[in-house]
Amino acid sequence: MASAQTAAGIAFSALGLLAASIGWPLVAFACALCAGFCFARHPVELESPPPPAVEPPPPWERAALDGVLTALADGVVVLDASDRALCANAGARSLLGLRLTGQDAPSLMEQVDWPQLETALFEARRSRVAQVFEAARSAGDQGQLVAVAVSVPGKDGSVVIVLRDQSRLRQLESLRRDFVANVSHELKTPLAAIQGFVETMIDDPEMPDGTRARFLERMHRQVQRLATLVTDLLTLSRLDEGAAQHGEPCDLSSVAREVVRDLMAFAEQRGVSLRIDVPTNPIWIAAEREALRQVVSNLTDNAIKYTPRSGSVAARLVVDGEQAQFLVVDTVIGLAEEDQERVFERFYRVDKARSRELGGTGLGLSIVKNTVQGLGGSVGVTSRLGYGSTFWARLPIAKR
Ligand code: ADP
Repeated sequence: MASAQTAAGIAFSALGLLAASIGWPLVAFACALCAGFCFARHPVELESPPPPAVEPPPPWERAALDGVLTALADGVVVLDASDRALCANAGARSLLGLRLTGQDAPSLMEQVDWPQLETALFEARRSRVAQVFEAARSAGDQGQLVAVAVSVPGKDGSVVIVLRDQSRLRQLESLRRDFVANVSHELKTPLAAIQGFVETMIDDPEMPDGTRARFLERMHRQVQRLATLVTDLLTLSRLDEGAAQHGEPCDLSSVAREVVRDLMAFAEQRGVSLRIDVPTNPIWIAAEREALRQVVSNLTDNAIKYTPRSGSVAARLVVDGEQAQFLVVDTVIGLAEEDQERVFERFYRVDKARSRELGGTGLGLSIVKNTVQGLGGSVGVTSRLGYGSTFWARLPIAKR
């Protein structure tokens, strides 16, 4: 066991350097600690001539090592020369599906079916070069993507394997790429329209006043669309940064009354009847007034926008235990089941052309969701295609 520990120390050092070079600082730190732990017990095998006296490592060192390995989200496994897992932390057990460890355990490859790992282990032993690879843990799109580093074998053939779940990182990268592509597309469309109008006006200086006025009016609409989009993007970015929306308790009843009253003219213009059912007594929410305005306004405005002429919309505010629930019930259009979850995603629209025509950016509901969740609440929709929807936001009532 002594030489195994020393060799594992060497392996940990090598892996520490490897982890540091591929940007895994926490793993590098853990490996350095493991290496220190192993070397401290067996410095004789590493130095020649041996140092005269060896200080026994302080008892906290073992506890520190255990603590670091347990807290480490990455998986760490130490294999002996026969590929038996001498020890493995919880991360490694879960990523590999490893059950048995210790000197009597079956070899790693008898327990884990992962050909890429087997190849990397074989290559590390053959070439004495550390191996790094990234692969799906199981077949198919749902497979967990895992980055693996296999150390150079120690003197007695022991090897350390470090594993990191990359799925979340890849998912975030893919979301970021989609977001950038969406923003670019949303900016490009009005810009292309404006460019078209401007070029036509430049090419035709004799253009009749009526046509020129029409072009200018359309350009104005596109500029407004760009401005709304940029405002929504800035709001989302502020919410992503976790900008504090909490504030001194604000009365949601008065905000709801005010916002819905302001939207009456819009509803009338669209031929939609808008009713309001809000208690007269105050309902206090620890939030900035503007944040509450945005929630009420986006939900009510959407209901009016997407309800056809002669339809009706009702905005209600109710108290349910320690929560306030703002609901907007609309009629007619409704949402298919598969759209109900997705409408809260950024840029998701059921009918793109209709949303654009109505001046939508596809960001309103994601702003509502981020705002409400930032305040400790939740949002949702119940809907039936062809019948209507009820969008709701629940917020914790402030203790006064
Ligand atoms: P938009 O700016 O397009 O309105 P939102 O994020 O507010 O963006 O809404 C996303 C999509 O959800 C809309 O494009 C629309 O398809 C759908 N939607 C939102 N509210 C309703 C509603 N009350 N009824 C039916 N569909 C709705």
